Amino acid sequence: MSDSEILRILLAAVLGIAAAAGNLLGGYFVVRKEWPRKYLQYFLALGAGYMLAVALIEMIPASVQLAGPDAFFFVLIGFFLIHLFEHTIAPHFHFGEETHAEEFARQGARRAVLLGLAIHSFFDGVAIAAGFLISTWLGAVIFVAVFLHKLPEGFTVASMVLASGQTRQNAIRAAATLGGATLLGVALTSIFQGQLQYALPLAGGVTLYVAGTDLLPELNREPNWRLAALVFAGVAILLILQKLANI
Ligand SMILES: [Zn+2]
Ligand SMILES: [Zn+2]
Repeated sequence: MSDSEILRILLAAVLGIAAAAGNLLGGYFVVRKEWPRKYLQYFLALGAGYMLAVALIEMIPASVQLAGPDAFFFVLIGFFLIHLFEHTIAPHFHFGEETHAEEFARQGARRAVLLGLAIHSFFDGVAIAAGFLISTWLGAVIFVAVFLHKLPEGFTVASMVLASGQTRQNAIRAAATLGGATLLGVALTSIFQGQLQYALPLAGGVTLYVAGTDLLPELNREPNWRLAALVFAGVAILLILQKLANI
C-alpha cells in the first residue's frame, strides 16, 4: 500500500467516527426534548438534494468506471435492499420524528426499524470508505452526503424508541447502534478492498434510496417552499464543489 492509500484509509476512519458521532448527537437532541426541529429539517432538505446529486453524478459514474455497465445491477440491489428492510420487513417507518406510539406496541416493530436503519447506516460507512479508496475527492463529497443526514437519522431512531415507551438510555443506545453500524461499514470496506467494484455501486443504490424515498417524501409532506428550495441548494452545493475542484 502506498503512503497516500494509507492516508486515505485513515481519513475514512476519522470521518467515519465523525459520521457516527452525528447519529449520537441526533439522538441526544431528541432525548433532551428541546431540540432544534427547524434546523434538523434544513439538514434533511439540503441532504436530500446533495445526496441525490452525489449518487447520480459521482458515485454511480465512478462505479461504472470501476465495474462497467454491470455496476447498475448492484445499484439496483442496493436500492431494493433498503426498500426490503426499511419498508417491507419493518411494518412502520418514516424518516423524521416518530409520534405514532400505537405502531410500536409490539417489540418486533421496533426491532425491525432498528435493523433496517442499521443496514442503511452500515452502507453509509461503506460509502465513505469506498469513496476514499478511489480518491480523496470522492471520499470527501460522499462524507458530506452522509454527514448531512446523520443528525436526522439519529433523531429518527431515538424518537422511535421514545415513542414506543422505552427509556432515554435505550434511545441513545439505538442511536449509538447506528453509529456503530457505520463504523463497521468503514472497517469492512477498508479490509476487503478487493470487493470495491461491488461496494461502491451498492452504496450508490442505498444513497439513491435514502435521498429519494426517505428524505424527499418527508419534506414534501407539508407545503413549505423554503424547504423545497433548499433541496435545490443541496444540488447546487455539489455542482459548485465540482467547479472549484476543477479550477
Ligand atoms: Zn410514525
Ligand atoms: Zn444514513
